[in-house]
Amino acid sequence: MKLTVNLKLTPTPEQAKILFETLEACNQLCNELSRFAFETKTFGQFDLHKAKYRILRDASPLSSQMIVRCFAKVSDSCRADRTTVHVFRKWSAQPYDARIFSFKEGDRVSLWTLAGRVRIPFVCGVHQRRYLRFRKGEVDPVYSKRNKKWFVNLVCDIPEQEPEFSVGILGVDFGIVNIATDSTGEVFSGTPVENKRLWYQDRRKRLQKKGTKASKRRLEKLAGRQHRFQTWVNHNISKHLVSKAKRTQSGIAIEDLSGIRDEVTARKSQRNRLHNWSFNQLRSFLSCKSLMYGVDLHVVDPRNTSRTCPECGSVDKKNRKNRDTFSCVSCGYTAPADDVGARNIAKVAVNRPEFSTRQKTG
Ligand SMILES: [Zn+2]
Repeated sequence: MKLTVNLKLTPTPEQAKILFETLEACNQLCNELSRFAFETKTFGQFDLHKAKYRILRDASPLSSQMIVRCFAKVSDSCRADRTTVHVFRKWSAQPYDARIFSFKEGDRVSLWTLAGRVRIPFVCGVHQRRYLRFRKGEVDPVYSKRNKKWFVNLVCDIPEQEPEFSVGILGVDFGIVNIATDSTGEVFSGTPVENKRLWYQDRRKRLQKKGTKASKRRLEKLAGRQHRFQTWVNHNISKHLVSKAKRTQSGIAIEDLSGIRDEVTARKSQRNRLHNWSFNQLRSFLSCKSLMYGVDLHVVDPRNTSRTCPECGSVDKKNRKNRDTFSCVSCGYTAPADDVGARNIAKVAVNRPEFSTRQKTG
């Protein structure tokens, strides 16, 4: 499984300046090469190399390895379309390979710049750090205009585990009141998260009112903190669910929500979800960790999961009394709506042929 990790760099102002200048020089060269490639119909990396390397090695301020990466970048981008001259933006990402990029002790990366190799500190969380040792191939130092921050994008190829034989399914419903509820009734409450959101919202309003330069900076910092908090919570929930499934020899089932947005029949709960919570991120963490730890992930049809009675099987709109409560009109079974959702999701997965086949062969 391939994952892209964005590592945040914290260069000094001098280092940032030289990074900008380096990217600019690379992209300027790429633009020249791109024009040359188009005019002379020289699109292959080796043909570009043969035609231009000697001249550039003497004339360009870039190192020879950097020039070689530029040939590759131009050739790659021409492969997709040879009918126009490709134009690279001033700070467009530049691929670095192992000869010009490496990790150094003390959480620093070393990369080639116009001022030679510089060592730039980076920051990374525990989860990111675990992925780093599976780094593969090239990395791209990039400047994010939106965040006004430097990053290196690394591709990590995380080894997957063969899913083990599972004896059951842990259904997971994503939330309205709670972020997630599983089919054993365990709840990942949304309350602390919602409180924190309200706190952030309040802070944001007050800072926006001020409108000073300093308050704008504080606002940006605040947004970053809120985002990191959400990522941290999602990592923890997904980790907990996957290790619980592993411990109980279960697969995990979640709803397939692709394409549900436009449907009139979309579950009401989907529209009432926890405000602004990134469920997509939670789903992607869950599927990634499932692959890493060899847990089967079943994505099931979401139809009727909120209105089916897990006790008697009655399907009725009226079973869902309100947003939070389920109460069966046939047998009277009453439970929190999230619990019922999770149990139904598990049931749908257990009844699918894929599950029984895995049971037989497993
Ligand atoms: Zn019932």
